[in-house]
Amino acid sequence: MNTGCIFCRIISGEIQSEILYQDEDVIALRDINPVAPTHLLIMPRAHITSPAEVGADQKWLLGHLIHVAGELAKREGIAESGYRLVINSGPDSGQEIPHLHLHLLGGRALRRMG
Ligand code: 5GP
Ligand code: ZN
Repeated sequence: MNTGCIFCRIISGEIQSEILYQDEDVIALRDINPVAPTHLLIMPRAHITSPAEVGADQKWLLGHLIHVAGELAKREGIAESGYRLVINSGPDSGQEIPHLHLHLLGGRALRRMG
């Protein structure tokens, strides 16, 4: 828990938010400022700032985040139409909140990257 982190404050329940999925290790929310019809955020409960800060003993967590994203894509009805998973990390990525999270984007054709 990092008291200056908005996601930690949502996870702790200090800030009310609709939780779409939760288990012991991860939670998922709808992005407050969606850029696609489906825009979810899947994150560890632990305050980890980036993939580079994930310890060797926490590798399973990265797989778990992607697995939950896949399940939520099915639940949102976009597993067949397609979706994109994005992790921003650091200034060049535009990362706004330094608490590791996966963006799940879909529900419309997304622009090709590059
Ligand atoms: P980043 O740029 O760090 O990868 O993404 C942060 C995301 O969190 C942004 O898409 C932003 O809209 C979203 N966001 C910021 N504050 C809140 C909040 O209080 N609640 C929710 N659900 N999403 C938030
Ligand atoms: Zn945090």
